[in-house]
Amino acid sequence: MKAFVIAEHSDAAAQLAAGARTVADEVAVAVINAEVPAGIADAAYHVAVPEGAIADDAYGAIATVLDADVVIAEPTRHVKSVVGRLAAAKGAAVITDCLSIADGAAVSMYFGGVGQITRKAKGTAFYTVAPSVFGDAAASGSNGAAEELAWVAPANAAKLVASEPVVKSGVDLTKADVVVACGRGFVGKTGLNTELIGVAEQIAAKTNGGVGCSRPLAEGVEGSDFDSYIGVSGLQLTPKVYICAGISGQMQHMVGCNRSGVIIAINKDKNAPIFKQCDLGVVGSVEDVLPALAAAL
Ligand SMILES: Cc1cc2nc3c(=O)[nH]c(=O)nc-3n(C[C@H](O)[C@H](O)[C@H](O)COP(=O)(O)OP(=O)(O)OC[C@H]3O[C@@H](n4cnc5c(N)ncnc54)[C@H](O)[C@@H]3O)c2cc1C
Repeated sequence: MKAFVIAEHSDAAAQLAAGARTVADEVAVAVINAEVPAGIADAAYHVAVPEGAIADDAYGAIATVLDADVVIAEPTRHVKSVVGRLAAAKGAAVITDCLSIADGAAVSMYFGGVGQITRKAKGTAFYTVAPSVFGDAAASGSNGAAEELAWVAPANAAKLVASEPVVKSGVDLTKADVVVACGRGFVGKTGLNTELIGVAEQIAAKTNGGVGCSRPLAEGVEGSDFDSYIGVSGLQLTPKVYICAGISGQMQHMVGCNRSGVIIAINKDKNAPIFKQCDLGVVGSVEDVLPALAAAL
């Protein structure tokens, strides 16, 4: 069985290669615009996106070396586009948001994480999988420096007309031990309580952690600086401790954190669904509980 991993982050490439090794005996990795770690696969390729092109068009270069039974792709916006086009070229479909892969079948989420389904792909299997799905699996392989793939521009290439760097907050939540996740409970009558987000940041700073949020805070709440969120369509995290503050506990959010070591919920509504999904729960308002927690640490 041959697996082919496509990623655009070095860490994700290593984690997905480790997972690929659990389902295949030959593993190749292609990384777009980032370093390919050594010793993670049997063959490694690097694709540099040329000036004026976009990563979504890297599929042409990758198609020249793609020879696999299983393709495992990092679920970023660009890589999803690459893998979708590779699958289309083979008359296949991509099975997205996979939670596990075994015995030639994948368990994946559907309806925004409300349900799970087991599917077998016909022909080459194309999967998108969050790197955290493979937990602590260790990558292995003999690859050294990656082979540089020549760029193959598609017939109707996208043309990059302008770009601006995305300013990301300091802590990489995928590596944080503690994540303080802020939800709509931080939005009061006068809007987003940014002072309280500062308190969440103090808790994170004291615990080697980072601050994240539910989707509504990253999309549409005025004054919010969050550029990403946790959940089925966002980050899927496995920290030691996950603090759900002012988050109701909808399935679409919990899919992003339900493999955390300990989940602590703070919610003023004692009937909030989060209390059925946490290890420790505090019924109280975030305005009272978070400053007390920050002071106690
Ligand atoms: C296809 C699809 C994909 C989605 N993907 C995601 C995703 O990836 N991630 C995600 O997060 N959501 C996602 N959603 C949205 C999701 O369904 C929920 O709407 C969202 O998670 C709710 O966010 P929340 O818990 O912050 O807000 P709410 O559900 O509004 O909950 C706010 C909670 O805060 C509590 N609260 C209010 N004030 C206070 C206070 N002062 N102190 C303490 N508690 C307080 C309330 O009791 C309530 O329980 C998706 C939805 C769809 C349809």
